[in-house]
Amino acid sequence: MATKNVLVVAAHPDDEILGCGGTVALHTRAGHRVTSVVVCEGESLRYGAGNVNQSSHMHQAAEVLGVAEVNALGFPDQKLDTFTLVDIITPLEKIIQDLHPEIVYCQYGGDINRDHEILFKAILVATRPVEEFIEAIYAFDTASSTEWAHPRSFNPDTWIDISSTIEQKLKAMACYESEVRPYPHPRSLDALENRAKAWGNQCCIDAAEVFMTIRRVIRNGQTPLPVRDWTRQASLQVSTSDSTKALGNQQSVQNNSPSHPLEQAARFESNPLP
Ligand SMILES: [Zn+2]
Repeated sequence: MATKNVLVVAAHPDDEILGCGGTVALHTRAGHRVTSVVVCEGESLRYGAGNVNQSSHMHQAAEVLGVAEVNALGFPDQKLDTFTLVDIITPLEKIIQDLHPEIVYCQYGGDINRDHEILFKAILVATRPVEEFIEAIYAFDTASSTEWAHPRSFNPDTWIDISSTIEQKLKAMACYESEVRPYPHPRSLDALENRAKAWGNQCCIDAAEVFMTIRRVIRNGQTPLPVRDWTRQASLQVSTSDSTKALGNQQSVQNNSPSHPLEQAARFESNPLP
C-alpha cells in the first residue's frame, strides 16, 4: 500500500503539538508521511522576533514526533486579520496540490484566538472537495484556546487513543520552552496529560486526542469500517458456520490471494487511522 500523506495545519508554533501531537506520532509510527504547516511565527508580538528561538523549538518538536517536513509560512503573529483570505488560502492551496494529503488536521474555527478562526476559514476553502485525494479533514482541540472561547462550541465526534504516544507528545511540547506554563495552566505538561486522560476516559481509554470531523468522504464503494476489523469479523462469521471453509478463507487472507473476496474488499477499505 502506498504511504499515506498526512497534513497538519496550525496557526502558531505549538498548536500542532497541543492539537494532534499524539495522533501525529501514531501516524509516523504507522509509516505515514506527516507534513506540518505553521502559518504564523508565534513570537514577534509577545517576545520580539527571534528572541525565544521558537523556530528551533518547532523543528525539535517535529523531530520528536517523526514529522517529515515543517513548513513555516511566516505570517505575523496575531495579525492574520490584516490579510485578505486569499493571501492565506493561496500558499495553503499550493502545498495541498503538491502534497496530495489523504488526511488533514487543522485548527478549530471557534477558538478564542482570531488567527485560528481566520485560518480555519482559509482551510475550508483550500480543502474544498473538488479533488478526490483528500479523504478526511479533522479540526483539533487546542489547550488554552478552544476552551476559552464563548460559546464553547467544540463538540468532538472522534476520540483517538494516544495512550502509547502521550509521552512523545509531552516530550515534543517540552521543546517549546517559551510556551509551556506552570501547572495548573492548560499548557503545563501535567495539565496536558490530565486533559488527554479526561478526553480518553470519556470513551473508557487511558488518554486521547479529540477532533471534530469537518468532512470525511468515502468513495469508490468503500465502507467506513477499517480493513482489520472487517476481515476479522468476516472470518469469525465464516468460522461459526463452516469451520472447514473458514480455514480455507483464513489461509487465503494470509496468502494475500488477489482473487479472494476478503482481499478484494480490503483493497477498497481505508486505513484504521482516521
Ligand atoms: Zn494558536
